Amino acid sequence: MPRTILFTNIGELTTNDPAPGREGGPLGIVRDAALLAVDGRVAWVGPAAAVAAGLPTALPIALPTATPAGGDSRPGRARGAAEASGGDDPLPPDALPLDALEPDALKPDEVVDLGGRAVIPGFVDSHSHLVFGGDRAEEFAARMAGRPYEAGGIRSTVQATRTASDEELRARLAAFVDELHRQGTTTFEIKSGYGLSVEAEERLVRLAREVTEEVTYLGAHVVPFEYREPDGPGADAYVELVTGEMLAACAPHAKWVDAFCERGAFTAEQSRRVLEAGRAAGLGVRVHGNQLGPGEGVRLAVELGAASVDHCTYLSEADVAALAASDTVATLLPGVEFSTRQPYPDARRLLDAGATVAIASDCNPGSSFTSSMPFCIAVAVRDMRMTPAEAVWAATAGGARALRREDVGALRPGLSADLVELDAPSHVHLAYRPGVPLVRRVFRAGAPLAGAA
Ligand SMILES: [Zn+2]
Repeated sequence: MPRTILFTNIGELTTNDPAPGREGGPLGIVRDAALLAVDGRVAWVGPAAAVAAGLPTALPIALPTATPAGGDSRPGRARGAAEASGGDDPLPPDALPLDALEPDALKPDEVVDLGGRAVIPGFVDSHSHLVFGGDRAEEFAARMAGRPYEAGGIRSTVQATRTASDEELRARLAAFVDELHRQGTTTFEIKSGYGLSVEAEERLVRLAREVTEEVTYLGAHVVPFEYREPDGPGADAYVELVTGEMLAACAPHAKWVDAFCERGAFTAEQSRRVLEAGRAAGLGVRVHGNQLGPGEGVRLAVELGAASVDHCTYLSEADVAALAASDTVATLLPGVEFSTRQPYPDARRLLDAGATVAIASDCNPGSSFTSSMPFCIAVAVRDMRMTPAEAVWAATAGGARALRREDVGALRPGLSADLVELDAPSHVHLAYRPGVPLVRRVFRAGAPLAGAA
C-alpha cells in the first residue's frame, strides 16, 4: 500500500510549474493550495477546496510506481530525459493513471496543515565545499579590516584538512548537513579540493558521498604548495596527477569533475585537460570561472557542454551570448562577493540575454562561509538586482538545472515531494525580511527533515 500524505491549507504554493490559472510566471503559484504526496513523490497539486470535496478520481493525478534515480545516476550515464521546462510536461514514464489504483490508496495516511503559510520547493544548493578542517575567521577579520582577498588562504585549509581524522571530518560534515536542512536545503552538491593529494582527495569525495550523491571531484582547485615551490615539480606535473592517478581514485565516488579556471589557479589549457579526462572517466563537467577577472572559463564550459559554470563575475559580451545559447547554467554565488567585498556579477545582463541562472552558496571557509540559501536570495535581490521571484526560482529550479536533476527543484507530479514551509505568507519575504529565520518546517520526499513536527 503506498504511503499518502496530504499537505493542505497552503496559503501560497510555489510550484515552479507554470500552467494556465497559476500566477507568478515561472513560479507557477497556486493560492489556497494542497499537495498530495505518494511514496515521497508529488502526485497531485491543486486548490485545497478540491480536497475538501474529497479527492475525486477525475483529478489529473499521476502516481509513481517506482522511486526515481536509484543506482548509477551520473550525468554521463543518465537516461536521455527531456529538459525540465515547465508548462506542458508529460507524465513521468513510470506514472500510473489514477484509475489503476485501489480507492483506498487515495485516503491520506497523514494530513499536514500548513496554516495558510507559504510553501516553496526545497532549495537546491549546487555549489559547496563542505569537507574541510579548521576555519579562517582571522583571515576574514583581516580582510574586513582592509586587506585584499588572496587565494593563498586555501593553503591553511589544505593543511588543516589533511591533518584532520575521518571522524573529525564526518562530524563536521554532519553538522553542516543539519545546518543545510534547517535552512531549507534539500539537495546539495559538495566538492573536494582541500586534499590535493591522491589519498587526501579520495578521502574527501568518499566522505562527501556518504551524505550526498552530488559529489564533485575538484582536485584542480589550486596547485598545492609542494608543487609550486621553486624546486617543486610545477603545475603541469600536478595536472598529470589530477588527470591520472588521482582521477582514478576519485571517480568511483564522484558524479562531477570541476576545475578552477582562473589566473593563479589553472590555465584554460590545463583546465581543459582536467575536464576532458574527467568526462572520459564518466563524470559530468562543471567549471569555476571568471571570478576574479575576465578569462576563458565560460567559453571552455560552454564548449565542453558543462552543466554549469560558476561565479561568472567578469563576463564579455561573447560570454553572455554563449551562455544564453547553451544548456550551461550560469551559477552565481552572492555569498562570495558579499564576504570578499568584490563587485557582484551582473545577473540582470544574463537574465535579459536569456541565460539560465542559478544561485548557490559556495559554502567554504575562505570566501563564503554561509550555507544559507535565504541569505543568498536576499543578497541576489538587493545587490544583483534580481527580482524576488527570479531569485527564488534560481535557488530551487535553477540549482536543479545546474545539477541536471529532473526529480527536484519543482513541485509537480512525479517529482520528489521536497517542501519548505515558510513562516510567511509569501516567497517574497525571503528577500523582504533578510536575516530572519523564516524556514519553519522542511520535508524531503514527504518526510520531515527539520522544524517543528
Ligand atoms: Zn567554489
